[in-house]
Amino acid sequence: MRILGVDIGGTNIDIVIYDGDFHHVGSYSTSEVFSAGIDSFIEKIAEEVGAVAVGIGAAVWIKGDKPILAPNLPSIPQLDLKIPAVIENDANCFAVYAHHVFKLPNILAITVGTGIGSGIITNEELYRGDGLAGELGHWFVGGSEECSCGGKGHLEAYFGGRALKNKYGDVKELVSSGKVYSLKEFELFCTAVANAVTLLDSSAVVLGGRIGMNLMAEKVKEGIYRHLMPGFTPEVLALKDELAVAKGACLVCLKTLKR
Ligand SMILES: [Zn+2]
Repeated sequence: MRILGVDIGGTNIDIVIYDGDFHHVGSYSTSEVFSAGIDSFIEKIAEEVGAVAVGIGAAVWIKGDKPILAPNLPSIPQLDLKIPAVIENDANCFAVYAHHVFKLPNILAITVGTGIGSGIITNEELYRGDGLAGELGHWFVGGSEECSCGGKGHLEAYFGGRALKNKYGDVKELVSSGKVYSLKEFELFCTAVANAVTLLDSSAVVLGGRIGMNLMAEKVKEGIYRHLMPGFTPEVLALKDELAVAKGACLVCLKTLKR
């Protein structure tokens, strides 16, 4: 059985196929695909590779089973595909793939890219709450900086890629030079993650996303442990795989089909 995994991001759409192993099909421009029609685009590729179902990970907020908001996409994907399809929040797909890789029962998975997403694995299962669980990026950390969601003072408005770029310029350089670790925004990030770990008692914090996977896990670990009560001992791991969301989307789809 072949499952197509699609990661719909703000800039790129990454596609993989899963047949027991993952294979990269291709990466495409989000704006071009949306203007040509996302449904027919996915259906065409699914047919070409012989996929029986599609898992979609997208930068959307899902409440119940419905996408309700997608501030970083050209529009909210309203998928009406001819083959079975499942849509899931991209950070949740990342968390599912992190669980597949690291096999730990309790994971707090965090993606730092343009924004900040997170997904929670608890006792081997993805935790959704009523759908929006794990929105660490929209955790109130103080101040009144405006956030992409319309709120103020949220973590993403300080430590998300867009916020860092607006304030400091070249984010790639900020991270590769290590300057990022002395920023007060990094401290805000570590404080929020430590608070989330205190709530969840995660076995591991797994970092991903364009910025997250390039942060030094050791530095993040030091930052988190500065705030943790003794007794909490999460590992901090980086998952360096740009296709992690697309791969997680395959696994989410597979699990839904087996139900
Ligand atoms: Zn927000």
